[in-house]
Amino acid sequence: MADLQTADAEPEATRVAVSVIVPVYNEEDSLPHLYQQLHDVLEGLGETYEIVFVDDGSRDQSMAILRDFAGRDKRVRVVGFRRNFGQTAALDAGFKHATGDVLIPMDADLQNDPKDIPRLLAKMREGYDVVSGWRKERKDAFLTRILPSRIANRIISRITGVRLHDYGCTLTAYRREIMRDVHLYGEMHRFIPVWAHWAGGKVTELAVDHHPRQFGTTKYGLSRTFRVILDLITVRFLVAYTTKPAYFFGRFALLSFLLSFLSFAWTLLEKVWLGTWVHNNPVFLIGIFTGIVGVQVVFVGLLAELNIRTHFEAQRRPAYFVRERLNVPAPDDSGTSPAPRRAP
Ligand code: UDP
Ligand code: MG
Repeated sequence: MADLQTADAEPEATRVAVSVIVPVYNEEDSLPHLYQQLHDVLEGLGETYEIVFVDDGSRDQSMAILRDFAGRDKRVRVVGFRRNFGQTAALDAGFKHATGDVLIPMDADLQNDPKDIPRLLAKMREGYDVVSGWRKERKDAFLTRILPSRIANRIISRITGVRLHDYGCTLTAYRREIMRDVHLYGEMHRFIPVWAHWAGGKVTELAVDHHPRQFGTTKYGLSRTFRVILDLITVRFLVAYTTKPAYFFGRFALLSFLLSFLSFAWTLLEKVWLGTWVHNNPVFLIGIFTGIVGVQVVFVGLLAELNIRTHFEAQRRPAYFVRERLNVPAPDDSGTSPAPRRAP
């Protein structure tokens, strides 16, 4: 999205301390309540703030309502999509248009509670870069939502090594630096904490309130869990092997060569023991097959290496992140703050 100006280009004066980011898709009944609750909580913070609503192509009156908010309150910013691009895209647009030092996304349907925002901020002041919300008592359908999500969370936690209970909670606080250069797609928003952890950020979680949906309907069902698992594989790959994909492919190649070797050895033994000729022995074919696959996988690994080179060179991304610099100026091309690498 080349036309998206990142908020970092904005002058310092228009920046705020806290940005709340709300993706909105057909939430006309919730919006007035949400705005009122947010207003009350944020006014009580004693910090500068803004609320960034992203209308994800709603077909009800949501956009008209947001227009009305924006007309009355300059701290309300609205981005309206041309059509429905999905929650992740809406969140991404929200992050890009937000100017806050701390970015707090939340759902528009009143399932997240604005009252948790001060708690998230307090936790963040203890020195964390990401404070992830944990819907400890989640109020959704058990079989289609809570159970699959619990299983998915377990798997994600195990595979990524970032121990969180709830990756699906939109309500989370991110420090701005962590979100710089993060681009989201698929179901990737739930892996930002993983990303942040990998970039050296401090990640923790905080139990937050969760309410049943009062108005409108949920936009998701069981199928979402599968998409999450697929994205997880990508994330695992990217986080662990982006700098050395040949190692990743190399393991498969080794396994394949090993199988190939064992098959040939077995074929030879059968010839010696039982006198079976190779043209009568299917194991010989397995040996040939796994041998060829092994060679292919090695070459795919090399291609992936080439790709990664292009990726890093084209974007001049370092393979490390700097937390602070003492008596050394930041080099021109790496910015002044640590820039986590682009999310998958
Ligand atoms: N949402 C969106 N675009 C979509 C689907 C959902 O912006 O295509 C928003 C929706 O308005 C809500 C949030 O994403 O603010 C979470 O959606 P939902 O409540 O349906 O998900 P659930 O809470 O059931 O996981
Ligand atoms: Mg919801």
